[in-house]
Amino acid sequence: MAEFELIEQHFTRPTRHTNLGIGDDAALISVAEGMELAISADMLVSGTHFFADADPYQLGWKSLAVNVSDMAAMGAQPRWTTLAIALPEEDTHWLNAFSKGFFACADTFKIDLIGGDTTRTSHKDALTISVQIMGEVPIGKAIKRNGAKVDDDIWVSGPLGKAAAALAYLFGSQSIPDTELTDHLNALHMPQPRIALGLALRDIATSCLDISDGLLADLGHILKASKVGANIQLQNILTSKFISSNLRQPEFQQYVLAGGDDYELCFTAPASDHEKIIALRKALSLPLSHIGKITLNQNLLALDSELKPITVVKKGFNHFS
Ligand code: ADP
Ligand code: MG
Repeated sequence: MAEFELIEQHFTRPTRHTNLGIGDDAALISVAEGMELAISADMLVSGTHFFADADPYQLGWKSLAVNVSDMAAMGAQPRWTTLAIALPEEDTHWLNAFSKGFFACADTFKIDLIGGDTTRTSHKDALTISVQIMGEVPIGKAIKRNGAKVDDDIWVSGPLGKAAAALAYLFGSQSIPDTELTDHLNALHMPQPRIALGLALRDIATSCLDISDGLLADLGHILKASKVGANIQLQNILTSKFISSNLRQPEFQQYVLAGGDDYELCFTAPASDHEKIIALRKALSLPLSHIGKITLNQNLLALDSELKPITVVKKGFNHFS
């Protein structure tokens, strides 16, 4: 199949809010008045970010979802995406499933795929997927990393640690009970970007990011940018039943504090907004946990249930390395 037909068949769909989509030398979009563009890119490389034999539907979903998550973290509404893909060989079954997963995510968040690039690679395991995302946010309203203030509350959405436990399971170093296995694997393969939360936080959060490299590493980025520190309590962080029942063991603490691939939001907000955030939790039916406080002292301290500091060997999860 010619490259043109491949793009036509697998990646061309009607658009919703695009002046000119796939098929010309460049796409054309208009940003609504009073809005600015939020732009981000994330690359997924076979062997580094996913197994070469990963399920293509889930890979399609995740390729876009991790980018959508960056829009959530900024308080931006995702609008447009481009997809550059380097394929070892033409595999119609793989392309069909990949594009189904990619568009399932695009449709969920009403994102238009407006362009990209498709090339061949010679090496069988060299599959590379590079996605760019563009979103809109009212000028000046994006939630950045540098706004955390001393005494702000620190919050995280959803349960943490499930994806890291699932990855350890796939590497054979962790068993997970049958009753909770699917749930943990889904957290790893089908992350759910928190767009509704990100949009709601525009007028509340003083800083925000999405947790992709592990809570401590990512919260560390907020602390550095905001020139503050933090105290957090492990037992206040929501995780799975399985992980929480083993939370005295260091490797389980690591899943929660330093696991990668959670794609939940970590944000800070003034203590006076506590009730607003509790109301948001109800409105969005999304768990939001108050896990600690921003401090003047520029250290990051994680405390266990006896309020003893936890030493984490690996702060951020480094995928396959
Ligand atoms: P050019 O040679 O001008 O770069 P291409 O033949 O690479 O054009 O692409 C033709 C059209 O298809 C362009 O509009 C491009 O943005 C789009 N396109 C190419 N690959 C992809 C892809 N994987 N996903 C979405 N759009 C794509
Ligand atoms: Mg091209």
